[in-house]
Amino acid sequence: SILVLGSVNVDITAYGARLPLPGETVHAESYAIALGGKGANQAVAAARLGAEVALAGRTGADGFGRMARDWLAQAGVGTGQLWEDAEHPTGIATIGVARDGENAITVVGGANMAIGAEDVARLDPAFATAKVLLLQLEAPLAAGLAAAAKMRAAGGLTLLDPAPAPGAAFGAEVWTAVDAMTPNESETEALTGIRPTDQASAARAASVMTERGLRIAVVKMGAGGVYWKAPEGEGHVPAFAVKAIDTVAAGDCFNGGLGFALARGDGLPDALRFANACGALATTRRGASDAAPTLAEVEALLKA
Ligand code: ADP
Repeated sequence: SILVLGSVNVDITAYGARLPLPGETVHAESYAIALGGKGANQAVAAARLGAEVALAGRTGADGFGRMARDWLAQAGVGTGQLWEDAEHPTGIATIGVARDGENAITVVGGANMAIGAEDVARLDPAFATAKVLLLQLEAPLAAGLAAAAKMRAAGGLTLLDPAPAPGAAFGAEVWTAVDAMTPNESETEALTGIRPTDQASAARAASVMTERGLRIAVVKMGAGGVYWKAPEGEGHVPAFAVKAIDTVAAGDCFNGGLGFALARGDGLPDALRFANACGALATTRRGASDAAPTLAEVEALLKA
């Protein structure tokens, strides 16, 4: 099974002609309320593929928390370890989307940012059955690292998606605490100082990460595919050619897919090809977790 320790948000998106300027009010045309947060998105992506998935984290004791829980349950994600926090509200993102596609996003982490050591302690039984732990940076990293240590002791793998890009450099311990990191282009630049614009620069960035002690570096480059470096080798895995209309959560579907493939025992290059197919299919649909593909859809693209 797959364990995700991370964020759950309710995303409130207003669609209008243009974004408001500071101090201004604009009338928008429509809105949508949907499940979001990188933890929830990655959990739903893995569950859509058929994995047994549990999402550990926190919501507030409020209506948005109950909404998020219902949506996760409908998606087949286990919420037995998604605890209610009486002191903090459920995380939200308020998103404005203009007609030209420009967006402005404010995230209020709320209960997600209160995830701590006591949550990891309550998770103990989950590490015995989980093969893969998925982490992101929308929850406190200290809790994620504590969970990674337990995952390693239990013989499982931890993948850290360093998204959103970390504000400060990682301490030396982070590079060895997890098994893999999967930064996109801007996160790779934030972590290594190297912008991966082609295979050569991606290879250099991956080397910087492995020299810091990271076992598996995976640089995600959108339509440019991924570059990986690990003890068994390194190389480029091209993206699938699709008609992308909305890249929101492509990275989350990639990570959910990578977790799924590694948990079932795929080797790294095969797992990355599988994850690329998940990310590519996600770009062909609007929405975040709603855009995640099924196993049949991924297998059809892999065969095409
Ligand atoms: P993020 O969403 O985190 O910014 P990327 O944009 O790199 O990450 O997308 C994640 C993955 O989704 C990529 O590694 C790739 O496999 C897939 N992907 C993203 N954009 C495209 C695209 N335009 N065409 C095909 N695959 C894509």
